[in-house]
Amino acid sequence: MAPKKSTKSAAVPTGPSKEEAHGYEFGGPIGAALISFGLPIACYAFAFLCNDVTGCPAPSLLSPSKLFTPPTLSRQSGWQHAIDVLKQETGWPGFAGLINIEATVGTLAWYGLSLMLYVLLPAKEVEGTELKTGGRLMYRMNSFTSALTILGICAAGTWALGPEFQVWTFINRNYIQLLTANILTSFFLATFVYVRSFAVKAGNRDLRELAAGGHSGNMLYDWFIGRELNPRITIPFLNTEVDIKAFMELRPGLLGWIILDLAFMAKQYDSYGYVTDSIIIVTVSQAVYVIDALYNEPAILTTIDLTTDGFGLMLAFGDLVWVPFTYSLQAKYLSVHPVMLGPFSFAAILGVQGLGYYIFRASNSEKNAFRTNPNDPSVAHLRYIETHTGSKLLTSGWWGTARHINYLGDWLMSWSYCLPTLAAGYKIVPSIMTPGTRLVTTDGMAGAAIPVTYFFMLYFAVLLIHREMRDEEKCRRKYGKDWERYCDKVRWRIVPGIY
Ligand code: NDP
Repeated sequence: MAPKKSTKSAAVPTGPSKEEAHGYEFGGPIGAALISFGLPIACYAFAFLCNDVTGCPAPSLLSPSKLFTPPTLSRQSGWQHAIDVLKQETGWPGFAGLINIEATVGTLAWYGLSLMLYVLLPAKEVEGTELKTGGRLMYRMNSFTSALTILGICAAGTWALGPEFQVWTFINRNYIQLLTANILTSFFLATFVYVRSFAVKAGNRDLRELAAGGHSGNMLYDWFIGRELNPRITIPFLNTEVDIKAFMELRPGLLGWIILDLAFMAKQYDSYGYVTDSIIIVTVSQAVYVIDALYNEPAILTTIDLTTDGFGLMLAFGDLVWVPFTYSLQAKYLSVHPVMLGPFSFAAILGVQGLGYYIFRASNSEKNAFRTNPNDPSVAHLRYIETHTGSKLLTSGWWGTARHINYLGDWLMSWSYCLPTLAAGYKIVPSIMTPGTRLVTTDGMAGAAIPVTYFFMLYFAVLLIHREMRDEEKCRRKYGKDWERYCDKVRWRIVPGIY
């Protein structure tokens, strides 16, 4: 039976609460424009400059002086020459080739499948945190069973057809076009929710509200940062409500990341006849991270994304494009260059992953348990301070070591995604021994692809430090003097003794 529209648990709110002053974040409208239009370009740059046509990075990038020097008799400028060479080395398909019908239909089918499983599979209805205007929204949770169903289908397909399973060949054939289709989807979604947000009226019965920092009045900024806090749609005929932000956060993009990893693993097997320990550790580590997030789905309700940020391009692009397409860069790299780690490196990387996961999971679970029921035996012994808002802040256990110790665990895990690529870099040359075939070699390339395959560690550190600062600002605004009292007791931000 189709599930019913989720119910609202509280009385009709009386109207918006007193708004706190909220400045621009991410560099205001200029930062929003740079991020919105710069990051899609960065995604294409990663996809083309680390390729399976000539190498990772495209070899000419290593000798810029030659790249910008046209042949003596040529009438080309340096720039024209460089662009022509790079087009050749990256397999540039032309602007029209960035999209095709196959990938667009495939992308829509992928969102459709996620939505269908959301509606049809049994689900738990969970209450969200209290809204500013009063009341709580209900969330339909079945992303874990939904993911298991999809992974089960993929496992069966791979069992039957091996790397020729159509999902894997489809992804590897249309990678660039899938990237484009998802970028366009994220831009469409951001625009759709932005326009719809103008229907939000104070005191509405649907508990719709604007995000505190999302209605500055600057169109570009609000479209980017997200104007409405919890945009929702009701699926016609099925009378089922979908929370767009929670859906996009945990479903198509997050699982899409793992599906991309698996497609790259299939590609490696198809090309070499074996699967390396490096791609296994990357894919398994990332799959554990994702499955863990889906298994602990209710934990998303207390994250900043759900409680504070509106849904705009920042989250739409992050969820649907940035996470799946840049977080899977290591597996993409390894699908072409099969690195063998050996038992020692494998165990060392697994150790880093295990330590990161332990800190991440233990600290997040501790806070969740404490916030759900402070008398729970697992957290009843912990010390805390009481704030004027009634919320309690832990000052011992994991949360007594640093104010965002969970970010440290998350960052350590990111190491285990990058380290398996070792001193990354390869080029593809014609084989002298077997004419007509190509060789992947590291000659003169060792370390050259580090900016690509280790980008994630650096980017993630920046993301977590920036996120910590935003959360710090939010908590300072919310708790005032109590937050200062808390900071006196818990001095470190992320890394105890260092930062
Ligand atoms: P947190 O889970 O760290 O939650 C921060 C909130 O917790 C604060 O705003 C405050 O909320 C409350 N809080 C702060 N200190 C305490 C304390 N001492 N005791 C009790 N409650 C406290 O934030 P995130 O939403 O950023 O992160 C959730 C997880 O998701 C993290 O592990 C993070 O690393 C991960 N993450 C992963 C990303 C990825 O791309 N892979 C991206 C972003 C996050 P309140 O107002 O309720 O007091």
